[in-house]
Amino acid sequence: MKRKPMRLAEQVKQAGIVGAGGAGFPTHVKMEARAEWFLANGAECEPLLQKDRELMVHFSEEIIEGLSLAGESVGAVKCRVGIKSKNRDAIESIAKATRGTSIEISEFGDFYPSGDEYEVVHQITGKLIPPAGIPLDVGAVVNNVETLYQIAQAHRGFPVTETFLTVNGAVQSPCTLKVPIGVSFREVIDLAGGATIDDYAVMDSGLMMGRLAGDLSRPVTKTTAGLIVLPASHELIERYQRPPEAQARIGKSACDQCSFCTELCPRYLLGYDVQPHAVMRSLGFSATGSDIWNKYAQLCCGCGICTLYACPESLYPREACLDGIASLRAAGQGKWEGPSQVRVHPMKEFRRVPMKLLIKKLGVSQYQVEAPFRDKVCSPESVSIPLKQHTGNPAVAVVTTGMPVEKGQLIGEIPDNQLGAHVHASIAGTVTEVSDCIRIERNGNG
Ligand code: SF4
Ligand code: SF4
Repeated sequence: MKRKPMRLAEQVKQAGIVGAGGAGFPTHVKMEARAEWFLANGAECEPLLQKDRELMVHFSEEIIEGLSLAGESVGAVKCRVGIKSKNRDAIESIAKATRGTSIEISEFGDFYPSGDEYEVVHQITGKLIPPAGIPLDVGAVVNNVETLYQIAQAHRGFPVTETFLTVNGAVQSPCTLKVPIGVSFREVIDLAGGATIDDYAVMDSGLMMGRLAGDLSRPVTKTTAGLIVLPASHELIERYQRPPEAQARIGKSACDQCSFCTELCPRYLLGYDVQPHAVMRSLGFSATGSDIWNKYAQLCCGCGICTLYACPESLYPREACLDGIASLRAAGQGKWEGPSQVRVHPMKEFRRVPMKLLIKKLGVSQYQVEAPFRDKVCSPESVSIPLKQHTGNPAVAVVTTGMPVEKGQLIGEIPDNQLGAHVHASIAGTVTEVSDCIRIERNGNG
């Protein structure tokens, strides 16, 4: 009997694909939806990162194949790719790959955060996602361009074993690379020629929405977008290193309620009731009082404009918002109960943050250089693959210590009916450790 072809959603699930542009939401869930629009998000906006641009230049056929498959799977009648106008090489390459299809390109200005899902949906469809909603609420599904590349790979039978990332900042040869999941940050930095300074720190996946990398033996995951090396004494690094208690203490005493943070907040300007200056008031209140102000944090996307660009006192309104969201959730008050109507602020277009100004403000202009794709072979002697690289539950190991594995073999799986993503071996070798990570050593390493 002829076997029924596997549905795309099932292929995507088996391949362990998660959103490559953020929190790692399992992609197969999105593939089960029905939607009018399918949007490819190529509006990368983290300063100094350009892996999406490089992907669009070098792998446009795969991206468009993934978009066509995904669009068809959800029944979309309109498929679009959002790209910044300044990335002419990416636009040309994608335009070539879309020839003969109905897929169109939407060009964006060079602002931060153009890649925010709410912004992408509004720019392309003209619709505003309801407060605390998702793109599907207005008939759209959004995927990062790397995710679409992975969908094309899954359709060809290849699971996620590698990821793309940019290495930039104080390194010998800034570049964009394709590396195996689980390789250490240190090895990836070495592939870019190593750091040019002795005393440095590394930002993982962006200066605005990323985090300090800390230990460089940490592994690259499916959502690692880039590594940026900066001097340890750089102001940005010092700001990220400040402990939360100190951030709150300074905020409590120094915030003069000027409200610049709110006036420049991209979500506020898009029409959502986010007011970081009001959330800052919570720092001076008891738990009960702070809940009143924390409600103004609920629709924050954590973009960092308030903390790293708007606040003249260098305070931490973004962090206050993220804390506020966490404490509301802990108190069981995470449901949005504010206004449901959204109206774009009349000053939105005049208050957008140009990337050039943001880069200057962050003090990283000297590192704003090209980081082209280099098809370098990355063959680590061992990899450490986390069982949780995604939203939802960790995968459950299906291998044990001492087992030989092939590249692409399933090593962690998500039980049926749980949210999460499968995990696969990114190199061939022997499993030497099974904990919250699965360590694989290339054969011949004892
Ligand atoms: S911009 Fe800074 S000082 Fe002004 S209200 Fe916001 S957090 Fe306070
Ligand atoms: S991080 Fe700040 S600027 Fe960004 S959405 Fe949240 S409150 Fe607004």
